[in-house]
Amino acid sequence: MTDRTCTPKVPTRAELEYAHRRALELNPSNAQRSRIIERTPPGRRGGKRRLIIDLNSRWPVTGIRLTVRFLDGPPTDLKKKLLLHMNAWGKTANVEFVPTSGDAHVRISRLDRPDSVAGYWSYVGTQILGIRSQSRPTMNLEGFTMSMPESEFKRVVRHEAGHTLGFEHEHMRKELVRLIDRNKAIRFFDVNQGWTAQETDEQVLTPLDTRSTMGTTEADPLSIMCYQLPGAIMKNGKPIIGGRDINTKDFAFAASCYPKKVSRPRTVR
Ligand SMILES: [Zn+2]
Repeated sequence: MTDRTCTPKVPTRAELEYAHRRALELNPSNAQRSRIIERTPPGRRGGKRRLIIDLNSRWPVTGIRLTVRFLDGPPTDLKKKLLLHMNAWGKTANVEFVPTSGDAHVRISRLDRPDSVAGYWSYVGTQILGIRSQSRPTMNLEGFTMSMPESEFKRVVRHEAGHTLGFEHEHMRKELVRLIDRNKAIRFFDVNQGWTAQETDEQVLTPLDTRSTMGTTEADPLSIMCYQLPGAIMKNGKPIIGGRDINTKDFAFAASCYPKKVSRPRTVR
């Protein structure tokens, strides 16, 4: 069995615009750049290895408490286990996912169809606020049950929770980009994301030495947020899996985004 990979999820323009307004209310420093216009800011070469974060979709540095609701009524033990793995980030960061049966910031489904929502994905950071209907998921964990191996809870659930906290995929390394079949990739992201060829070029096909974020160009291939790519778009048919758990650098970066000493996490309103 090959590992399933996460497919980047981007809200519609209208959803993004609403989410952007809310993101500015919550965290005025999100005004530093507009993701709607530009996905990656110009940066410098070099610097330490770290995750990238979407500045435009960051939760407040004071920490966050996000409510979570499961849309399809999974058993209690599974709900507990999913929350446990999402809360793994709370080891170093001032973040907390708490279950609710009412309106929730984070809504989790396990849909396997249609193709546009199947698979593993989450919207990034405050972009989840752009998905205003309480019946729509902000995260999908297709087919997750208690019989999934522990390693999949670490690899997938922690990764998707990382997106919800505002962490985007780690940069592509040149040696990985070289393995991608451009035509297959363009078709794949057209079907799955509605991306134009140009968007797929920017998001997936541009290696890290010509694209940079937050002033770094060196990706951490062992980061839990390392870019994941499905086998279907690779020349050799083998998926890029990325990190298998939150590593020390991920924990340190999460702590720097949402430091614990500031205050107790606050519920987002
Ligand atoms: Zn992902």
